[in-house]
Amino acid sequence: MTLALPTESRARIDLAAAFRWAARLDWHESIANHFSVAVSADRCSFLLNPNGRHFSRVRASELLLLDARDESALARPDAPDPTAWHLHAQLHRRLPHARCILHTHMPHATALCCLEDFEFLMLDQNACRYHRRIAYDRHFDGMALDAAEGARVAALLGEGKSVLMMGNHGVLVIGASVAEAFDDLYYLERAARVQILALSTGRTPAVIPEEVAARTCAQWFSYPGDALELAQLDRLQALVELGPGRNEEAHAEAQALLSALDTGVGFRAEKIAFARAAFSTWFSARKWQNWGADPDVYRGILASHVAAVRFAVERLAKG
Ligand SMILES: [Zn+2]
Repeated sequence: MTLALPTESRARIDLAAAFRWAARLDWHESIANHFSVAVSADRCSFLLNPNGRHFSRVRASELLLLDARDESALARPDAPDPTAWHLHAQLHRRLPHARCILHTHMPHATALCCLEDFEFLMLDQNACRYHRRIAYDRHFDGMALDAAEGARVAALLGEGKSVLMMGNHGVLVIGASVAEAFDDLYYLERAARVQILALSTGRTPAVIPEEVAARTCAQWFSYPGDALELAQLDRLQALVELGPGRNEEAHAEAQALLSALDTGVGFRAEKIAFARAAFSTWFSARKWQNWGADPDVYRGILASHVAAVRFAVERLAKG
């Protein structure tokens, strides 16, 4: 786990990629739901999605830069959504481990949140990742429209808790970086899907014993990386950072690296597919310039796709 402070531009790129990836995975509610990431050491300065922007179209450059202590934020011409402001500002201010906050109504996890007295069951390897890391808020009371609601939610996310399952509502994940929080969000939805399927059989679920679940959780966070793959990723990262307008050889090498890294299964394959698609689009972006596209539009599209590749590369190193 790293607590390295990202630069604002890097945080913008990562967060924009997270929005677009969430849209691809159908976790979005169109323009609703919010992601944020802190860009100052005290976490009071943070980025948040602009009001009214669909998840699939969020750009790095248009994320709102807000001060959690500035009560006039809601009076800005580009004011954030009020529920997002009250929740995210309070959580960033109050929780040292909340550098990135991702809130979604993703379908399987939210369905579990709608069950009476729900506890997340340790049913499979993915579920064990969340062993004793989940807090519960079972008291849905409408939309959060004041700071008191943010303070109340912050109190639930104490030491060791980084996931909040919100009754009759959705989930909220906090992490030290966009990548870390997004990874948690991803496996949470995967584990939730398994639980929904298992419970839907009507048979008794076989819960993993406490000791095994605890050990499996620890294994999640100490899993060794692969030196060769990390070297390939370094090279891929270098190619990405060369910028647009590179030659065909650079493009071919990037695609070959992506193929070598593709195991064809699970989340890893999904990340690779995403990176490959983004890289191809990025590479061909230079052609758009020849089509006479507005330079600002071109830069925005390009930034988003470069962001997607960088994000996928970073996530690969952890996957
Ligand atoms: Zn919500």
